[in-house]
Amino acid sequence: MHDSSPTSGQPSTRRLRLGIDLDGVVADFNQGWVDLHNQEFGGSLSPDQVDRWDGLPEVAGFADMREFWAWASPKSHRPSIFRHLATYPGALDALRRLRRSHDVVVVTTKPHWAVHDTFAWLSEVRFPTTEVHITDDKETVECDVYVDDSPHVLARLVADRGDRLILRWVRPWNTELAGTLAVSSWADVERAVAGLADV
Ligand SMILES: [Mg+2]
Repeated sequence: MHDSSPTSGQPSTRRLRLGIDLDGVVADFNQGWVDLHNQEFGGSLSPDQVDRWDGLPEVAGFADMREFWAWASPKSHRPSIFRHLATYPGALDALRRLRRSHDVVVVTTKPHWAVHDTFAWLSEVRFPTTEVHITDDKETVECDVYVDDSPHVLARLVADRGDRLILRWVRPWNTELAGTLAVSSWADVERAVAGLADV
C-alpha cells in the first residue's frame, strides 16, 4: 500500500462514503451497560464476559433481550444506556482524519426509545458527521465502505452490498465471514479505506 498518512486534498484520492456503525465500533456499548448494571444492582460484571452475540441477557441476569432492553430504556431518574457511552480510544480522532477526505456516515441500529439519546450523544462527543441513519436495514444506506461488528448485519451487507468494502470489526461475538475484511484497530480501517480510495 502507498503512503497511508492521513493527509488531505490529494487529487488522486477518491472521496468515499464510509458507513460507520456505532455500538461495538465507536461506542463501547458493553462497558456502558455493565457500568450502569453494576451501579444499579451492585454487582461486579465486566464487559469481557460478553463473548457471544446472544449471550448478553445471560451475563446481565435477564431472561431475554426484551427484559434487557426494558431495563436499559430511559427511566424517570435517568436516560437510556445510550446517552453516556464512552468512545473507544482513538475512534473519534480516526474519524476526524477520515472525514478530511471522505464522507463519514453514521449507520446504526437503535431501539425506538434511544433515538433522541443517540442524537444527544452524537452531539456531545462532537461526532464528525453531518449524516446519520438510524435503521434496522443498514444495507439500504448506500456506502462504499461499511464498518460493523454485528454478525447479522455483516451477513446482510455481504448479501446486498457484496460489491462494497465491508470491514468486520473483530469482536468475540463475530467470526470470519467471506466477503468481509477483518479489522481490529482504527489504523486498520484507515489503511483499508486508503487502499480503496487511492486511484
Ligand atoms: Mg455494532
